[in-house]
Amino acid sequence: MSDKIKRQRRTKIVATIGPASSTPEVLETLFTAGVDVFRLNFSHGEHADHAERIRMIRELEARTGRPIAILADVQGPKLRVGRFAEGRVTLIAGQPFRLDLDETPGDSHRVRLPHPEIIAAAEPGSHLLLDDGKLRLRITSKGDTHLDTEVVTGGPLSDRKGVNVPDVVLPIPALTDKDRRDMAFALEHGVEYIGLSFVQRVEDVREAREIAAGRAWIMTKVEKPQALEDLEQIITLSDAVMVARGDLGVELPPEEVPLVQKRIVRLARQLGRPVVVATQMLESMISAPAPTRAEASDVATAVFDGADAVMLSAETAAGQYPVEAVEIMNRIVARVERDSGWQNQMRASRPAPEADTADAIAAATAQVATTVGARAIVAYTLSGKTALRIARERPECPVLGLSGTLSAARRMAVVWGVHAMGVAGHNAAETMGDVVRQAARSAREETFAEAGELIVVAAGVPFGKAGTTNTLRVATVE
Ligand code: PGA
Ligand code: MN
Repeated sequence: MSDKIKRQRRTKIVATIGPASSTPEVLETLFTAGVDVFRLNFSHGEHADHAERIRMIRELEARTGRPIAILADVQGPKLRVGRFAEGRVTLIAGQPFRLDLDETPGDSHRVRLPHPEIIAAAEPGSHLLLDDGKLRLRITSKGDTHLDTEVVTGGPLSDRKGVNVPDVVLPIPALTDKDRRDMAFALEHGVEYIGLSFVQRVEDVREAREIAAGRAWIMTKVEKPQALEDLEQIITLSDAVMVARGDLGVELPPEEVPLVQKRIVRLARQLGRPVVVATQMLESMISAPAPTRAEASDVATAVFDGADAVMLSAETAAGQYPVEAVEIMNRIVARVERDSGWQNQMRASRPAPEADTADAIAAATAQVATTVGARAIVAYTLSGKTALRIARERPECPVLGLSGTLSAARRMAVVWGVHAMGVAGHNAAETMGDVVRQAARSAREETFAEAGELIVVAAGVPFGKAGTTNTLRVATVE
């Protein structure tokens, strides 16, 4: 690929990869169609599969010359049923169904629930929700190693579907042994983000941060009602946030989900943490080549809310139309962003700057860029933080994020409006003059600005020290 790839939108696209999307050809098509971040779901697949996918994504990145972020989403204490002899069964309302610890593949009378602590904690009368709440079972009685239930809402149930127990407080840790192994694997393979599932407490995030030790950023998935009680602290300690509506919508009544989504997006934007809206965005496209009207509206709503990214799950991992799903998502996002109502909304929802130098510069940068009609803001950024604070302003022109490390450039792939690049020689810049020349050259090469046009450059002086954004310069591209 020789043409420069430049997205015609600010809101980013995250796509989950799986069996429907794990060849170099499909990955490349998905990327070309608009994927900025690839998500690996550690609830499925072996380490060897994930290693192969990481290798293919890095190869794609090398071919296209664009930094791509990888999000390794660890399962967390997600409860799942075991496997079935036939792969799937159909449960019928009114019939009995048993969950037990037996490893024998299941049938229409029983299946394994490999969580003795849940069997111990659950009580007759409680409900179990299966497969994102599509099926409902009521516990009728229990033994030491099994729960007997009556099917309240039936339907098809296949291997390893999720189980939620909203009315039972679960005595389980935030990171399971499997999560620790998966995290170690993902960190060894140099992913940019760890998706942390079922966070309930600030301590859950703190523990993951200690393990990651700066090697990857932590994307906290908000999907438990308990997390909402401590939301501000949880987001503050996280590097990024996901509105994980799949489990959130099972644990909470559906009418709460839109309000919680808006609350999380608003708070994450205020705190300057990238926020991803996830799950069921184009769900019907798992088996249809076009979305429903409601789905198109859902994607548009997330864009109007100012989320950093929208996400595809089964649509791209296991669906029949992975490429079409990305194409349509790309079209919806780009269309909304051409609307003047959206532009007004971004302006009106801009959070006030924090009272520090970095935010003062970020706010001024966005303001100056608009006033002088700059073609781009160039954030000269070591860790990516300068770009994050500028993106928090949701400025009217694109942000070119220049970083000396490829890993920081990759991390910015999820951030609203940022076109990131790793630039060799970043650390060699000594004066602000060096930085401005580098910024102008990159803006021209990446086709943001032509000779004679203006850019606004934000950087921290002295260079090579993170977290010191303190300088702003307006420059003419030569
Ligand atoms: P999952 O997370 O796909 O790993 O369950 C996303 C969600 O719950 O929405
Ligand atoms: Mn989930």
